[in-house]
Amino acid sequence: MKISERLEKLPPYLFAQIDKKIDDAKKRGIDIISLGIGDPDKPTLTNIVDKMAKAITEPKNHDYPPYQGTSDFRKASADWMKKRFDVELDYDNEVLALIGSKEGLAHVFFAFVDRDDIVLVPDPGYPVYKNATILAGGYAYNMPLLKENKFLPDFDKIPEDIAKKAKLMFLNYPNNPTGAVATLDFYKKAVEFAKKYDILICNDQAYCEMTYDNYKAPSILQVEGAKDIAIEFYSHSKSYNMTGWRLGFACGNKEAINALGIIKNNIDSGVFKAIQEAGIEAYNTPSEEIEKLNKMYQKRRDVAQSCLAELGWEIEPTLGTFYLWLPTPNKMSSSAFCEMVIEKTGVVLVPGLGYGQNGEGYFRIALTKEEDVLKEAFKRLKEANIRFQ
Ligand SMILES: *Cc1c(COP(=O)(O)O)cnc(C)c1O
Repeated sequence: MKISERLEKLPPYLFAQIDKKIDDAKKRGIDIISLGIGDPDKPTLTNIVDKMAKAITEPKNHDYPPYQGTSDFRKASADWMKKRFDVELDYDNEVLALIGSKEGLAHVFFAFVDRDDIVLVPDPGYPVYKNATILAGGYAYNMPLLKENKFLPDFDKIPEDIAKKAKLMFLNYPNNPTGAVATLDFYKKAVEFAKKYDILICNDQAYCEMTYDNYKAPSILQVEGAKDIAIEFYSHSKSYNMTGWRLGFACGNKEAINALGIIKNNIDSGVFKAIQEAGIEAYNTPSEEIEKLNKMYQKRRDVAQSCLAELGWEIEPTLGTFYLWLPTPNKMSSSAFCEMVIEKTGVVLVPGLGYGQNGEGYFRIALTKEEDVLKEAFKRLKEANIRFQ
């Protein structure tokens, strides 16, 4: 049996060594505190669970769903976009239900990328962008996200011949893994660049509702003319604690939505209709409930930040996502640092290299644990004399 070339081309699984260290630590009886996974630790909001409990009993929800999503779900998604961003969408042609946004993000490559086509991907970035490029036979060109540029790509640094050959560009703010945010002005530049070179922008909005200090994330579709060359991917996962439910939607440029829909029609058969009903209810969540969750993460961020300051890491407060992105001490390699921390303290951090070569020299902390657990984790670092400087 021989696996495909495309599968062989995927980079090796970077966390194997970390997983081994975790196993070793467990065997030695060390209690593990994982600040690794980007998965909300609180349950799905109750209004959504209650809606699902009803929807699941209804036989009308038990058959195959429409491929593109129910018209109710698409309309509710378009209404939410209007209310949240003042963006107008035709829900029959410009909105598509997804089985979680990762599903749509991974499939969009098969609608646009032919062999050796170029895709512009943020580095560090969510690994799907690069890996799905490879699976589709394309070539991922890194747009470095550097601290000195506030972790935004510099479009002027992309060579003309690369830009001319690029078919897709991926953006993601609030950003995983750096926690950086983008302004509408940045999106204007992105749209201008994409129009000049005829590139479809795929904007990943997974964390658009997870923001702090009164910061509100914009949509790229608020930029005039953006709909000519952009689509966005929205997810119920992080906003409403629904990671296990698998629900999201894509919206924006009609031709792109149609092309993604054709790929999907040939691969999946849509989202369980009861989940789509629950997803509509999610949009009706009182804003105070979302605010409450964000206050909780904001508090954790502040706790982590003051503990980190004691250890010599001085950082600016992040305005979005539940991640902190920090440099390793003494320019230590990200893997060596994270392995050392697990071995000495049982605290699991994620090496930045796992998000791309520009992630080297960094590690990611996920604020997906209660405050007292976070404090315990930093106490262990202090006791092991692990400091930035
Ligand atoms: C979590 C995450 C997603 C995936 O969300 P799902 O809707 O659960 O598939 C997409 N993009 C980024 C950057 C994420 O961190």
